[in-house]
Amino acid sequence: MSIKENIEHIKVLKAEAARKIGKNPEDVLLVAVTKTYGAEKINEAIDAGIKDIGENKVQEILDKYENVKPVKWHMIGHLQTNKVKYIIDKVSMIHSVDSLKLAEEINKRAAKIGIVMDILLQINPAMEESKFGITSKETGELLCAILETCTNVRVCGLMSIVPYDENPENVRKYFAMVKNTYDKFKDIEHNRMEFKYLSMGMSHDFQTAIEEGANLIRVGTAIFGNRDYSKQ
Ligand SMILES: *Cc1c(COP(=O)(O)O)cnc(C)c1O
Repeated sequence: MSIKENIEHIKVLKAEAARKIGKNPEDVLLVAVTKTYGAEKINEAIDAGIKDIGENKVQEILDKYENVKPVKWHMIGHLQTNKVKYIIDKVSMIHSVDSLKLAEEINKRAAKIGIVMDILLQINPAMEESKFGITSKETGELLCAILETCTNVRVCGLMSIVPYDENPENVRKYFAMVKNTYDKFKDIEHNRMEFKYLSMGMSHDFQTAIEEGANLIRVGTAIFGNRDYSKQ
């Protein structure tokens, strides 16, 4: 199937899952994860209607930026503080904030160029050592600290990468945990906080994620096919 056909298919499944819980399919944002794919394929996806793309490495964003058609870039991977400066003027949202130190660096760089950067806090619900992110318990503390000191960031919600399992039913509980944390904070009124995104669900489990409340899904393989890491 072509990239366009894959996107159409994902949209059908996304709509199905959204309707299942009484949600408008348009209210679930599809972010195409473009890591390891070149500008040509990415542009094909943009021509097929994709408006948001996600990358997990700073270097890949820099390498492709000039050759990709106008689109919103999302930083979805672990971000080192010393690399924030390279992407601060290129991405529209950073999903992977998991420390005050990183938030403060984003804040500093955003202030320098006169913008407010949208961020999500990354939650690691299964507390896997191999993954970045804070625990649900730590969320309140980090959120408060960021709101207190970072005047040039807006906290727009939470992001999570749940453990991989072939059967998404086995990770449904983790999606539910993150949604639970999201709900705890979503109605707090603060001028630098607007919870509108719950970013979770990937190629093999996005329907389950949507059923549990995700409204932003990050899908790579199901759009572009298997990745070839050897070319990197
Ligand atoms: C690669 C990646 C995805 C997409 O994974 P697929 O299984 O290819 O859909 C989503 N989120 C993050 C953070 C990723 O690094």
